[in-house]
Amino acid sequence: MASEDETATLSEEAAAYAEGMERAEEALAAAGAEDAAGEEVEVEPEGGEEPVRRYDEETLRRREAALAQIVQYGDPMLKSRSSEVTEFDQLLTNEILRMFDLMKDGLGVGLAAPQAGKLRRLLVFQTNADAVPQELVNPVIEWLSDETEVAAEGCLSIPRVIVEVDRPLYARVRGQDRNGAEVLIEASGHEARVLQHEIDHLDGILILDRTEKKQRKSAMKALRRGESFSPHEDD
Ligand SMILES: [Zn+2]
Repeated sequence: MASEDETATLSEEAAAYAEGMERAEEALAAAGAEDAAGEEVEVEPEGGEEPVRRYDEETLRRREAALAQIVQYGDPMLKSRSSEVTEFDQLLTNEILRMFDLMKDGLGVGLAAPQAGKLRRLLVFQTNADAVPQELVNPVIEWLSDETEVAAEGCLSIPRVIVEVDRPLYARVRGQDRNGAEVLIEASGHEARVLQHEIDHLDGILILDRTEKKQRKSAMKALRRGESFSPHEDD
């Protein structure tokens, strides 16, 4: 990292991008004033754990446009239970492809249908840049390890907020693909975490519900004030 001060400024700009086009335009203008060649800004990916990366303006504009289409914290949809998918038709495939685009443009590693405005048991994920994005329809967690791990997680529906979540390190998840064929995933580490995070969305559970009380309180306070939050920043 260049310097603590620079990092702090960039993080604040990144945070502003998550709030809406108006704020994004302001942040872009501010970034442009600082560096006409185009400022790169840090973004926290959905699901957490991936290293913070730096992005150019065009990427950030696309992220902002994606976030504007993603259901944001405060919408009751995010607290609702989604219903089973029963029709494996072209509409489902179209929805999956739309979610792939939102996930890609939003720089997420996963996205659940309620975040895309559909209360259906459907998620997409891509836990590393080289992997092919994958859908999982009607996912069911068959088994979770007793062994757990605490890691920081973000959420495309709760921009600017990072909290620590304790989750099983290994998960076996069964579901279906877009054609209704059965899919079984033995996941570990980051992938297991992302799948659990997205399946939580299908049951109306958010990272704020999964983190310890102190972080939840601080994160909720930051959300009310329109500020960013990450653990241990105020310890
Ligand atoms: Zn999420």
